[in-house]
Amino acid sequence: MDNNRQLTPAEQKRKEVFDAKCEEMYAKDYIKSDLTFSVTKANMYALIIMLPFLVGFMGWYFVVNISRFSFGYGLIGLAVMFFAMILLTVIHELIHGITWAAFAKKHFKSIEFGIVWKMLTPYCTCSDTLAKWQYIIGAAMPTIIVGFIPAIIAIYCNSFLLFLVFWIMIAAGGGDALIILKTLRHRSKEKECVYLDHPYECGVVVFEKEK
Ligand SMILES: [Zn+2]
Repeated sequence: MDNNRQLTPAEQKRKEVFDAKCEEMYAKDYIKSDLTFSVTKANMYALIIMLPFLVGFMGWYFVVNISRFSFGYGLIGLAVMFFAMILLTVIHELIHGITWAAFAKKHFKSIEFGIVWKMLTPYCTCSDTLAKWQYIIGAAMPTIIVGFIPAIIAIYCNSFLLFLVFWIMIAAGGGDALIILKTLRHRSKEKECVYLDHPYECGVVVFEKEK
């Protein structure tokens, strides 16, 4: 973990809320474990984890459309792609927020949206604890809704431009997939456990307690 990184004011504020939540959980006899990655490591693993999906979907596109493939979109096509991706990136974060808000006790009051300006990356975090399945559904939903499903539709509509947009959105879900995998691999038998978004690293922390 990168301990030298300077936190932004928003991250600092979230860290305070997070620390208070940790204290509250310790007081209830929970033990905390980190399931987080530093942002640099996350980007590398995220791409590796999505590679089979990316290769599989590209192959799928060409198997279905090989006899009628064309790419004549030019600059306008590229501009459309660019703006579509910005819009879909925002929608991706909104879907995280809406899904987690549905599960969180305080609903939208627990959800925070923002942008890391240095990397021009929007984000969504939930400051309330969630059950494992709730966290996983919220993490997976955006890539399913603005990645996998429309990519399959684009394959059968033979629109390579749209397909590329959604294919890139599948790649963009790598960070979420990484967190889901790490969460799934963390086994806690016969224990009560709840999950909480880390305030500034990529991933979650889990609080566990003997039943
Ligand atoms: Zn995401």
